[in-house]
Amino acid sequence: MPSLFDDELPVIRVALPVPLTRCFDYVLPPNLQNAYLPLGARVRVPYRNKAMIGVVMERQVTPDVPVEKLKPLSELIDDASLLDDHQRALAQWLARYCHGPVGEVISMMLPTLLRQGAAAHIQEETYWLATQSGRALDPEKMSRAPKQAELLRALQKHQQPVAATMLRSLGFTSAQMAALEDKGLAERYQQSRHLEGRDDDARPVLAEIPLQLNDDQKTAVTEITDRLGQPDVFLLEGITGSGKTEVYLQIIEAVLKQGRQVLVLVPEIGLAPQTVNRFKKRFSVPVMTLHSGLNDKERLDAWLLARDGRAGVLIGTRSAAVTPFKDLALIVVDEEHDASYKQGDGIRYSARDLAVVRGKMLSCPVVLGSATPSLETLHNATEKRYHWLKLTQRAGASVQLPDIYLHDIQNKKLTNGIDGGLLQVMRTHLQQGGQVLAFINRRGFAPALMCHDCGWVSDCPYCDARMTLHREPPRLHCHHCDSVGPIPHQCPKCFASELKPVGSGTERMEETLENAFKDWPVFRVDRDTVSRKGMMEKLLETIHKEEPCVLVGTQMLAKGHHFPAVTLVVVLDADGGFYSSDFRGLERMGQLLTQVAGRAGRESRKGKVVVQTHRPDDPLLKLLAQHDYSQFSRCLLEERKEALLPPYSFMAIIRAEANQSDLVINFLTEVVQAAEPVIAQIEGLEVNGPLPSPMERRFGRYHMQIWLLCDRRAPLHQGIACLLDLINRHPMNRKVRWSLDVDPQELI
Ligand code: ADP
Ligand code: ZN
Ligand code: ZN
Repeated sequence: MPSLFDDELPVIRVALPVPLTRCFDYVLPPNLQNAYLPLGARVRVPYRNKAMIGVVMERQVTPDVPVEKLKPLSELIDDASLLDDHQRALAQWLARYCHGPVGEVISMMLPTLLRQGAAAHIQEETYWLATQSGRALDPEKMSRAPKQAELLRALQKHQQPVAATMLRSLGFTSAQMAALEDKGLAERYQQSRHLEGRDDDARPVLAEIPLQLNDDQKTAVTEITDRLGQPDVFLLEGITGSGKTEVYLQIIEAVLKQGRQVLVLVPEIGLAPQTVNRFKKRFSVPVMTLHSGLNDKERLDAWLLARDGRAGVLIGTRSAAVTPFKDLALIVVDEEHDASYKQGDGIRYSARDLAVVRGKMLSCPVVLGSATPSLETLHNATEKRYHWLKLTQRAGASVQLPDIYLHDIQNKKLTNGIDGGLLQVMRTHLQQGGQVLAFINRRGFAPALMCHDCGWVSDCPYCDARMTLHREPPRLHCHHCDSVGPIPHQCPKCFASELKPVGSGTERMEETLENAFKDWPVFRVDRDTVSRKGMMEKLLETIHKEEPCVLVGTQMLAKGHHFPAVTLVVVLDADGGFYSSDFRGLERMGQLLTQVAGRAGRESRKGKVVVQTHRPDDPLLKLLAQHDYSQFSRCLLEERKEALLPPYSFMAIIRAEANQSDLVINFLTEVVQAAEPVIAQIEGLEVNGPLPSPMERRFGRYHMQIWLLCDRRAPLHQGIACLLDLINRHPMNRKVRWSLDVDPQELI
């Protein structure tokens, strides 16, 4: 038995998925004391009378309590490390950044099945290949075994192994396969179905010839490939269609030729299968995807193939940013400005920012691509922290940028949210065979229902918000708390029978456009229709037939699609950003407008964009209409600088909520007051609050927040630590739900 005087203590420190910032020590039971226990392997341990799965973070720990008091580990699950040194260091970094439990970060890094204890092995399936003698033999000569002859004939047709499941579906049995094996005519392989016919080191990297680059692209590719192996960050700024994806493909090619791996982050995969297909077509090394559309098993496979170094390229959404790799040499973040890179609950990280951190830790370049870079990234590029590469023209066959018109709708009577003159413009485009996109950034039929007699409106009973009227299926639906109710037939207050929808959403616009254009199909694309199975594929197919049609939808339509026949893009509600309570409102509006405009006229025809606005003379809108996102963003940066808002300061928000408003206010006020002496000592730190959240009452609970702003990170984190410490020790902290958001992307 080991004693306390042994210099190698049989104690390990384990990260557990519990909301406590520390790790937990366990003693090795005698049967495991000589076992090899890799750091980063999973173990099963007792925790508060429950069995839990954790990850080994340290070995030979000197515990804070006598070894005799420690519980023994129950089981070692992995015989090899799941999360290598880099991955664990990344987890530690992220935990410090969010002031959160490292155990929860580690748990987030693991796919669900691994979290539940599944084996960390890629599931392999059986494949069959004809041997040399099998290829030489004429199946005609096997007349005594006709089924085996048929099987041999089938195998002879393939140079690559054929899946046993496929052969079975063709009517062959395992016995017949085994019989060919016995005769030396066929041999079996075990491999992952994701690597089917591709798991071969000797294969060339390219499966097709890359495009000839233009000068801008060439410069970008050279600059980046020259710095492989270095922790440099690049902003690749280029309008939609300027050939950013081609640049990614060619720098990825350089990395793959070194036998190393690439992570590509994209905002959304389900909606942009075209991009993934371009990567798969280009490379013969395995290109895997990781996104929410996969089931647990598929996610596990992609994760393991990346970790084992067998996936050359992993394309994934936000959560892919924490995937382990055997030999990661490049990270690409496409549409780096996209808000979906920020995780909105739990461990609130930004996949883009994490990519930059990872690049530094691994000494590999990170490429941030966008037509409309975020102000944070632009600021970093201006300050020369990032290299700034620009693609200035549309590449290849695509034509000039569309003309953008600001269509004045002040004092105009709109029909269900659209101007009559604009309908006429749409009709002309359809008559000329063009496709038309109409954007309206609100789902449902109408944002509210109202009584004309007494002014009753469909307020959500639980939120400071209106319930949206939906027709499909008919309901009132609060988009903030998700509560749903029936549509009243008469006013609940004065019993008048006429209730009117106020404003327009996608459903109403679809109906309006259907009535206006009887000769052409109208499709709606929003969260409600996209979730219908196969809907997106069908839509894309119709669109690629290039017949005239109208697409009406939310910003979903703006993301990553290539619509070659679209000649007109109509933006129905552009002004929202001006009235936003969020200081990022205008930035988002500019990004959306520019992205939307990029959908017009991508191939052989010059496109046109019409923006309905009440502010046709607004200087910022005018800049966007001149395709001058750069100047637009410079103006916004000036404003941020004056207001000392990000990116000119670092920000964190502590949000708190409770079922009574007094509770939250008192709680936060006491915390801020108690923190004052410490905060006053921290130079440059500004603490504001408690402030009511933009929507104070949500789902029946009251939301308040504290803002922390500082021009440097270290004091900001000092301030956060001080406040969190007070929150954790506050007697009321169980009645108030709170969370911390460092570098928040939304204020609500
Ligand atoms: P982005 O990612 O910036 O939107 P893409 O890389 O998708 O741009 O390029 C837009 C279109 O131009 C695509 O159809 C692409 O095949 C084509 N393209 C890109 N670069 C070139 C090039 N150097 N020569 C010819 N065509 C190109
Ligand atoms: Zn009424
Ligand atoms: Zn609600």
